[in-house]
Amino acid sequence: PPRPPSSNPLKRKFALEGSENAVAAGATSDSGVKVVVRMRPPKQDEEDGEMTVQKVSCDSVLINGQTFTFDAVADTAATQLDIFELVGAPLVENCLAGFNSSIFAYGQTGSGKTYTMWGPAHALSEDILSNEQLGLTPRILERLFSRINEEEMKHAERQLKYQCRCSFLEIYNEQITDLLDPNQKNLQIREDIKSGVYVDNLTEESVSTMKDVRHLLLKGLSNRRTGATSINAESSRSHSVFTCIIESRCKSMADGLSSFKTSRINLVDLAGSERQKLTGAAGERLKEAGNINRSLSQLGNLINILAEVSQTGKQRHIPYRDSKLTFLLQESLGGNAKLAMVCAISPAQSCKSETFSTLRFAQRAKAIKNKAVVNEE
Ligand code: ADP
Repeated sequence: PPRPPSSNPLKRKFALEGSENAVAAGATSDSGVKVVVRMRPPKQDEEDGEMTVQKVSCDSVLINGQTFTFDAVADTAATQLDIFELVGAPLVENCLAGFNSSIFAYGQTGSGKTYTMWGPAHALSEDILSNEQLGLTPRILERLFSRINEEEMKHAERQLKYQCRCSFLEIYNEQITDLLDPNQKNLQIREDIKSGVYVDNLTEESVSTMKDVRHLLLKGLSNRRTGATSINAESSRSHSVFTCIIESRCKSMADGLSSFKTSRINLVDLAGSERQKLTGAAGERLKEAGNINRSLSQLGNLINILAEVSQTGKQRHIPYRDSKLTFLLQESLGGNAKLAMVCAISPAQSCKSETFSTLRFAQRAKAIKNKAVVNEE
């Protein structure tokens, strides 16, 4: 499938607030990482215990006597629509303005990442427009299509036209599988000046209706690997990355020349962040866990480095290539990107130490300051 024309590589350079890179890259607006914490409702067997975390204001939580502040805290009453309004709707606007935009769901297994990103499978297979359990991804695509319609009508005299293509992949055991064509295993990440970072031979399907999106999501999700652990039999032990590439063409009224914009939305459901000793993994499972943790721990490392660079202003080597996940998503983690993290937590007492470490991760992510630039040619 054809790959999108890339942005100017200069513009893709990692750019920090106040740094020369940001200026050279034509940075247009400030952008930190937006961090939203979402606490899922307790399950029946969790209900009696005291809550491990308390929401103390619209953006703060208290745990172990320590207060953490984020962009927003969604408690157990928050609906899928609330989460969409917090992180999904702004992402669509960023993306239409030409920014690469991503949402990562981070948290331990069973904390609600998958529910947040896609929603339960039955919601996808039912009437997509009305099911209130639908997750962020279908809601984002639905809003994207309706906004594209509006924009095309508004700029009809300039012949504004959008095209969207989607891909869906899984990183499991440091190997990339195409979820839209699972025969395509062990795909390789490539990088060149023209195309930036991409996955060789990854299926990209054009989408223009919610029927297309629903079909594609159901196909991809059904091809995901799941592996039972003693924590949660349904746990996904892989990272899933859904990408939508949005291209627009538009004629200038002054000289009649066409301009071209491209941006990407990455929607990422990360593998469970729990420490492996909890799951009782052994043998092959433990090897897998090592690799899963490699991608996740590299993500953690990058977040630490980016946060440090933001705070000190000192340039440092950013080791994006040390794992598949960070290599693939380097453009979402670095300069030309708007990034949101939904950090999912469980209210259960038994999850307290994992909840604490998720909040610490979220706090470090919050310290990152990127400057995003528009992809325009
Ligand atoms: P993860 O992807 O983090 O392993 P899941 O998304 O599979 O976790 O969530 C674990 C369970 O909790 C699932 O049965 C899911 O439907 C349920 N769940 C998670 N978040 C919510 C929520 N906000 N409201 C209702 N049920 C939820």
